[in-house]
Amino acid sequence: MNAVTDAVTPALPAPIGLLAELTHRCPLRCPYCSNPLELDKRSGELDTAAWQRVLTEAAALGVLHVHLSGGEPTARQDIVEITRTCAELGLYSNLITSGVAGALGKLDALYDAGLDHVQLSIQAAEAANAERIGGLKNAQPQKFAFAERVVALGLPLTLNAVIHRGNIHEVATLIDLAVTLGAKRLEVAHTQYYGWAYVNRAALMPAKPDVDRSIRIVEEARERLKGRLVIDLVVPDYYAKYPKACAGGWGRRLMNVTPAGKVLPCHAAETIPGLEFWNVRDRSLGEIWAQSPAFQAYRGTAWMKEPCRSCDRREKDWGGCRCQALALAGDAAATDPACSLSPLHAKVQALAIAESALETAPDYQYRTIGGAPLVTQPEGVTA
Ligand code: SF4
Ligand code: SF4
Repeated sequence: MNAVTDAVTPALPAPIGLLAELTHRCPLRCPYCSNPLELDKRSGELDTAAWQRVLTEAAALGVLHVHLSGGEPTARQDIVEITRTCAELGLYSNLITSGVAGALGKLDALYDAGLDHVQLSIQAAEAANAERIGGLKNAQPQKFAFAERVVALGLPLTLNAVIHRGNIHEVATLIDLAVTLGAKRLEVAHTQYYGWAYVNRAALMPAKPDVDRSIRIVEEARERLKGRLVIDLVVPDYYAKYPKACAGGWGRRLMNVTPAGKVLPCHAAETIPGLEFWNVRDRSLGEIWAQSPAFQAYRGTAWMKEPCRSCDRREKDWGGCRCQALALAGDAAATDPACSLSPLHAKVQALAIAESALETAPDYQYRTIGGAPLVTQPEGVTA
């Protein structure tokens, strides 16, 4: 019996992607970071051999893509070795990086090790604004130099721009910047309110007319730049009609391994109290995929309550995001209040409108290791 491959059955297909959060360490401090409020410390991180074992098990399980992420993955001394292991196993590797600090110095070695793709975060088009948002001076020239080298090496480059109140006026210039830097793809990703973004929600929430304008700008640019730049658009949940299928559906497509080895169905799953997360230090990835209580908790549709239970979209969006349901409605098994069919949806929209209308946005609560006790949590909504 092989605990890795035996996890895959017709009823439970293999995950296609693995998000490897190699470290929570990062030189930037983005106020929308999806990392948890309590960041894993360096001393608790998995070592090289453990990650190589995880990658070997992922390949055996049927995983196709590995996202080497963090924090800042190039902060790991062994990032080149880990990338080489992906290549040897035939796993498509995507480096998700801020492009600052030591990232450029490791790029050629990562290319030689077989790196397939780079996704570079960009906080804003205008340097001073980018550096205010990311909380790091002199970040922008480092990012531009990094992007230039990625393109010179012939690696496909995606820019990821998280959009919020502080940079929504720059969507058009971000598109121009992506073209100038030679990116093949741009993600215009409106903030998802989990992790640090949730505690900074009132500072980040854009006004609905600005969101609508940003969507029109993207739609126009998609036409104009056909064949040169692909633009992905992630619309903001709080103003949406229906929620997104979080992580492609809980326990359906993705596994997320934290720096300390916990395996999560999505990056925010640890915010749900009472879930039991198994660790790659104790069990194989295949066993975790098939049997971990956390993966079983909201897999499929049996756990759903109304209105999801009888909704004909239940196998499209899988009821939306469990973490958002918990944060906003106080019940992880509730319909995601981002859904217009949720009884709480009108309150969520009213909350977004009220926060975006604040004359002055609150100061950011910057991400920091050991920062959890400092943060102020926003309120949810109740029926
Ligand atoms: S969102 Fe910002 S702070 Fe968080 S890992 Fe990415 S670059 Fe670092
Ligand atoms: S009711 Fe549930 S399944 Fe239906 S659209 Fe809303 S979140 Fe999706």
